[in-house]
Amino acid sequence: MADRNKRLDSNVPGNFYVDATCINCDTCRQLAPLSFEEVGDYSAVSRQPDRDLHTHQAYQALLACPVGSIGTEHSDKARLQTAMASFPLRIENGVSYCGFNSEKSFGANSFFVEHPDGNWLIDSPRYIKHLVEAFERRGGIAHVFLTHKDDVADADKYAAHFGAKRIIHQADSDAAPTAEWVIGGEETVQVGAEFQIIPVPGHTAGCIALLYRERFLFTGDHLWWDSHGKSLAAPTRLIWRRWTLIESIRKLLDYPFEWVLAGHGDRVHLASTDMRAQLRALVERCEKGRVLR
Ligand code: SF4
Repeated sequence: MADRNKRLDSNVPGNFYVDATCINCDTCRQLAPLSFEEVGDYSAVSRQPDRDLHTHQAYQALLACPVGSIGTEHSDKARLQTAMASFPLRIENGVSYCGFNSEKSFGANSFFVEHPDGNWLIDSPRYIKHLVEAFERRGGIAHVFLTHKDDVADADKYAAHFGAKRIIHQADSDAAPTAEWVIGGEETVQVGAEFQIIPVPGHTAGCIALLYRERFLFTGDHLWWDSHGKSLAAPTRLIWRRWTLIESIRKLLDYPFEWVLAGHGDRVHLASTDMRAQLRALVERCEKGRVLR
């Protein structure tokens, strides 16, 4: 819960504010980009929401913030409940963003896929009653897909509650030593007709991406959309092996997809030809030795 005594001076005056406990994870800026901006080492309210949609998004950001750094001087319970009910937030075709990002994964995004053969949770949000009940209403969870060792958060709790199978790569399996399915090597694994698990080592040795319907690519921290640069981006630090990372980015040129749904960083939807061009441009920037962003 935010503390108005710690309200940052960088917030504009008004109802919403960020306090000094912010860990600068970017979640609020993704959810409510017209209200939150990065100022120095923190986020801040750069413009108070003055329209219904923007107020709704600011309340969604308040709920999703992993450390409760966003507060209001005067809470509107009805709007807060509406924002709560919006999670998991539907994106397209049974794919949702979970919200309620976890501090354990430094505020990484997690996603939920509804599928007739069993639903998938991709990385883990906080374990909270609202999400457990929402997942129950949507048919439970059969698979918990862990993109890499940093974003496991409360995966064990969701897996235990739903009897789900946790999937992780062997190289990162110390983060989930009792996982039911450990992926090995660098070959792509087909799961049913519509899912492919693609090893993409680089950020960590055991990064894996999940491709769904050759349309949605869940990337963890391998790739994301840089909304300022309007381009795909990849890690510039905290890299296990830089050249392995570049090869893993290049590898994705073999797969068609239109969505990048990332753990950290923005998500994006592009035509598959534009996505491929973005990917190629990122590989070229990497190969030329420029910064990866
Ligand atoms: S979501 Fe919370 S912790 Fe993350 S940047 Fe915004 S205010 Fe800071």
